[in-house]
Order: sequence, then C-alpha cells, then structure tokens
Amino acid sequence: MSLELEDVDHVTVLGAGSMGHGITEVVALGGYDVTMRDIEEEIVEDGYQDIEWSLEKLSEKGRIDQDPEAVLGRISTAVDLESAVADTDLVIEAAPEKLDLKRDIYADLEEFAPDHTVFASNTSSLPITQIAEATDRPEQVVGTHYFNPPVKMDLVEVIYGEGTSDETAELAYEFVEDIDKTPIYVRKDVRGFVVNTVLGPFGDEAAWMASEGVATVEAIDAAMVHQRGYPMGPFELSDMTGIDIGYDVAKEAGREVAPIVEEKVENEHLGRKTGKGYYDYEDGDGTTYEPGDGEGVDTLRIEARIVNRAAYLIREDVATPDAIDTGMRLGTGFPEGPCRRADKIGLDTIVEKLRDLHEEYSAERYEPDPWLVEKVEAGETGEDAGSGFYDYGGEDGTRDYTTIDHELHDNGLLEIELDRPSRMNALNDDLMEETVHLLDSVDVDEVRAVTFEGNGDRAFSAGADITGFSGVAPHEVEVTEFFETVNDFPRPTLAKIDGFCLGGGHELAMACDLRVATEDSEFGFPEINLGLIPGGGGTQRAIRMLPEARAKELVFRGNRISAERAHKWGLINCAVDSEEFEEICQEFVDDLVNGPPIALRKAKQVMNRGADENMAAGLEMESQAFGLLLTTDDMEEGAMAFMGDREPEFEGK
Ligand code: NAD
Repeated sequence: MSLELEDVDHVTVLGAGSMGHGITEVVALGGYDVTMRDIEEEIVEDGYQDIEWSLEKLSEKGRIDQDPEAVLGRISTAVDLESAVADTDLVIEAAPEKLDLKRDIYADLEEFAPDHTVFASNTSSLPITQIAEATDRPEQVVGTHYFNPPVKMDLVEVIYGEGTSDETAELAYEFVEDIDKTPIYVRKDVRGFVVNTVLGPFGDEAAWMASEGVATVEAIDAAMVHQRGYPMGPFELSDMTGIDIGYDVAKEAGREVAPIVEEKVENEHLGRKTGKGYYDYEDGDGTTYEPGDGEGVDTLRIEARIVNRAAYLIREDVATPDAIDTGMRLGTGFPEGPCRRADKIGLDTIVEKLRDLHEEYSAERYEPDPWLVEKVEAGETGEDAGSGFYDYGGEDGTRDYTTIDHELHDNGLLEIELDRPSRMNALNDDLMEETVHLLDSVDVDEVRAVTFEGNGDRAFSAGADITGFSGVAPHEVEVTEFFETVNDFPRPTLAKIDGFCLGGGHELAMACDLRVATEDSEFGFPEINLGLIPGGGGTQRAIRMLPEARAKELVFRGNRISAERAHKWGLINCAVDSEEFEEICQEFVDDLVNGPPIALRKAKQVMNRGADENMAAGLEMESQAFGLLLTTDDMEEGAMAFMGDREPEFEGK
C-alpha cells in the first residue's frame, strides 16, 4: 500500500539552511506538523529564528491570516536524526549539494525512517536516481525542487528518478498543492530539470553575442527587459546568481563557455558577491543600461535557443508545454511561457533563425530540435496556423488556454479562473482574448451561470498588465471587447473576489452582474496615478452604478477602498468573512443555476439595456419580455411548483 496524502501527518525537513528553514516554514503554514533537523543545535536555532522573523513580517504585511504563534506551534527542531524521522511520513532533504553527503544521509534514513516514508530531495542539480540508489526504496524517492526563497516562490518541480513510482510522484505533487504551492512534473531525471534547462540559453546566448561583439552587455540587457519584458537582463541576472555558478554548470555538462564568461571567471569578477561582474557594484552603481539602449539587438537569437530547449524537453517526454510555461513564469518571472511566446513568433521563424545561426557558427547549440522541425514540416507553426506547442481551435476545434482555467459543471455552472498568480492575475492580451474565445465558443444552452475568480488568495485581479502598455499605438487598444463580452453574456455572472480588485480587474468585476468579496479585499482604480483613466468601461459603469461623488472619488483620487466601504457604497453585494466566503458564493450560485434560464436571461437583458434608456423605452422592453415569458414551459413549471408547494425544476423552455 502506498502512502496517500491524507495519511501524511508528520513531515521532517533535513537542513535548517537557506532552503531548509524556508521549506519548514511553508510546510507549517500549510498546516502540517514539521520537524526541522540540522547537525548542530546552533544552526537549528538560527533557522528557527529566521522562521520567526519571516512569519512576523508576513503577518505585519497582512500576507498571512494565521497567527504566527500557531504556525510556530507546529514546528519542532532536532539534531538527532534517528528520533527526528522515527515517526515521519515525508522527509524533505535540503542538505548541502554534495552527492556523497546526500547518499550518506539517505542510507541513514533507510535505517531510521518507517517503511512507508517517502523521501523528497530538494537538490537543484544532482540526479535523483543516484541519490535514490543509496536506499532500498528507490520507488519512494522523488525530487521536490523548491525555489529560493520558498516562502515567496510559488513553484516546485516534482522530479521522477528512474525508479520513482507514479504513486510517490503523485503524492509529492498533491502535497505541494496542499501547501499552496504550484507543482510541475519533471518526468525524467534530466540535468537542470525543467527550469534550469530552459533558462540556460538566456545567459549563454547573451554571452556569445557579447563575446562576438554583435551587441554590448548593456544593449542586450536593455533589449531583453524593455523590449521583451523579462524582469532582468541576462547579465544582470548572472551577476546576481554568480557568474561562476553558470560557468560550473556548463563545464560539468561539457558545454563550451563563451569567452566573456571565461574572462570574468579568470579575473574573479563573479558578480555582486565579488563587487564586480558584468557591472561594477563596488565603485559603480551596478547596472548601467537605459531603456533605449536595446535598439536593434537580435533578441530572437536568445529566444530561439530557449524555445529549442523547451522543444527538447517535450520530445523527450520530460514535460508538457503547460508545465514548461508555468515553470518559467513562476520559477524565473518570464513574462510569458516560452512555448506560448514561440507560438506567437511562429515556429517556422524560430527554426529559420536557428538554421541561420547554425550555418554561420556551425555550433551544436544552434541545431534545431527535431521536434521543432517536424512541427514546421507538418505546418503546425503556432497560433496563426491553429496549432503549435498549443492548440488554438485548429481542425478538431479544441483549444488550450494558458492564462485562464475553466470548468463547466453538470449543473450548468461555468467556473472561470484568472490564472496568472505570479502577476496577481493581471489582465494581459492573452487572458482577455482567451476569455472572449471561451465565452464565444461555449454552448450557451449548457451554461446556467458563470463565476469569475482569481487563482490564489492575494488577488482577484490587480489590474491590467502594464508591461504590455508601452509602445502601443492608439488604434491597437481593443480592451473593451473583453469587458463587453462579459457584460453581455446571456447568463448571470458572479465575481468571487478574494484580495486585490483593482483597475482592469475591478472593471471585470463591475462587468459581472453580482459581486461577492472577502472582507480583506480592496477595490480601486489606480489608473490616474499612471496618467491614465480606466479604459475597460470603468468610468461609465462607476458613474451609472454609484452616486456621482463616489464614482468620481474612485476615478480621480486613485485610492483603494475596503470591501466594507465598497459594500456600503453599493459597489458589491456583500463583504464576508473569508471562512464563509465559499459557502456564501455557493448560495448565490445555487439560486442562479437553479433559476429559470429564460427569465434570468431576459431580466439581465432588460435591466442592462434599460439602464441606458429612458423610462418609457425601458418599460416597453420589460413588458415585451414579460409577455414572452408568459408563454414558456418554465413559467408553467414555476406556477405548478408554487401551487404544489415544491421546488421548481426549470429546463429553459
Ligand atoms: P545551506 O548550506 O544554506 O544549508 C544546508 C544545511 O544543511 C546546513 O545548515 C548544513 O548544516 C545542513 N546539513 C549538513 N548535513 C546535514 C545532515 N546530515 N542532516 C541535516 N542537515 C545537514 O544550503 P541550501 O542553499 O539551503 O541548499 C540546500 C539544498 O537545496 C541543496 O541541495 C541545494 O542545491 C538546494 N537548493 C538550493 C537553492 C538556493 O538557492 N540556495 C535553491 C534550490 C535548491
């Protein structure tokens, strides 16, 4: 019998260092009892104090609802290994990155831990397979690669060693989800797993370009940040992580290293930690690039190589496009996943670029991956072709969404989740386009109500993704279609708001028919602070929904208001305790999905349209709708049920 998630009561983390204490903290925040073990009392004590400090900070900033003391109450510390694992269900090992040391640890674990215990290693570069060989239970050994710092970083790679059983990997995956992190499967034990495999060329290709003199360090960083939306330039990132780290990884993998990297390592200019790297942090002010410096840089060179690595992982069945994209967004802050981006650029363009580079430099790193070549030959070149890494409603009509999640339940409830948690579910072009596509293509007869919510408990949606704003020409602004599609959808809609509901997110909520929020949610239109105004119907809906002074206060001052105030103003239907939130939303949903579909549709239509008409025209619309409803089966059913003192069963006829 393999271990099930509900049987996991006690977790042990080995190591109280940078990662160990952070992992202990998130496991305790996830509600588990956890023992943190290190080799010396003093180290454990330091780790524990780091956790205390961090919990205090999270609590001060309102990032956690739990009492820090209660979380600490779930943590115990240990130095003695035997007692620390004697009664544990899951061990998460975060000891130093040395294979021999880890293998010794696992041999001890084999001896001291119960037979059912699953061992999860946090290694970032060692093969899980080799670690597992130190035990007699390779099927119960798995990689769970947390990112630094675990409290802030949402991603965890769940890695299969050669012997890892599906049950063990699934348990690890479910555990990660249960402590509110986002897992992705890495189905084979490849060097660098998913995130570092795909990230590799970001720094490597940039270094080749700078070495060849085709662009300067500043120009490349500026182009990647200001034109392509990455949170940091490749050289800036390398300075932060340490130039020697990337150098060692490349050498170990037997890859050729760009001359500029060799030179930095030789001179011990290793980045921030030595005061100098690609930039000067000692005598200078660090990065020196300006937004305009990136003009003319061939960023496709870097992105084509990134995509090539993603293709390799897919061909080798290591990960799905969705796992890769999620990994890169959450693990490295990529503005969008490389697979999604490749589908926009066109796989043919990527392959052509790689071929050109290969011809010019005849280096293996530019050889287009066979998976990409095959796709291009099959005409599946990306979004415009209807299929690429993802499906875009090609011939079989299926479509993968990358920024929203949705589920249509048997009772007719269509749940839509804004799924960009790393960007606080900010609205970008993809999210708006995908939502419109979903609402336009869903069979309305199957739907009785729609709910919108944000992924995670920080934000419903914190606004529009402003990284997409700069350089947009006025004729390219087409945001209203999204809000109008939601507003006009012929079924009742409910916004379930938990957290920030700002700017475009607020406009989406206002385009819904009903709004239920947790008490700690916040509402506002911060656009004015950016020199803008709400552009998704916010000014018009606010002035129709609220008294003039309140609407103008929201738009002119750009301040946030609490859920309580939003309720008082009439902006939302209710503000509820987060404990009761789901239950109350469910009560709304029950009424909507069980209500008479035609009457609800007509009520929505005449109320929405009537609000823009004079009274006489509104009354005319209402009476026409009323007349029509008198002829429906639903009306007959409603009357019969009323007389028979039973619940009506409406069929929408
Ligand atoms: P660290 O040096 O900060 O902490 C390691 C801790 O393990 C030390 O406190 C050490 O005393 C302790 N230790 C040594 N032997 C032990 C044993 N037998 N039992 C229990 N504890 C023992 O290292 P770290 O940065 O926390 O890295 C730990 C692991 O996490 C490594 O495998 C590393 O590759 C991986 N990792 C690190 C990062 C990162 O950014 N630091 C990110 C992801 C994964």
